[in-house]
Amino acid sequence: MADMHICGLCGKPTPNYSRFISGPICGSDGYSVCDDCIKQRGRELAWKNEQWSKDEITCPWCGYEDPDSWEFEAEYDEEYECLHCGKPFFVEKRVEVTYTSMRRIEDMPEGWEGE
Ligand SMILES: [Zn+2]
Ligand SMILES: [Zn+2]
Repeated sequence: MADMHICGLCGKPTPNYSRFISGPICGSDGYSVCDDCIKQRGRELAWKNEQWSKDEITCPWCGYEDPDSWEFEAEYDEEYECLHCGKPFFVEKRVEVTYTSMRRIEDMPEGWEGE
């Protein structure tokens, strides 16, 4: 009988065990994920069909890109509806914050000529 390990996701015993490619991490040299969890992971990936960091809101059902995405003001919407196929999906807006800074002319040396 194969060695039993504990699934790292649900805690059920499982014979599955994978070693980390890069060597031991925090005292363990691998991890276990049971068959049920592997199946669940696969299902999750398949059903979400995430459309990562698109410039436009992109329908995960039909791929339609909403040209009016910029009108979407909320950060999060659980019931966004595709204008093309009418199916509902989640929208999460991630706005990257950047900072632009510059000197003030008042703080430049007197008589500065721009070199
Ligand atoms: Zn599991
Ligand atoms: Zn659609």
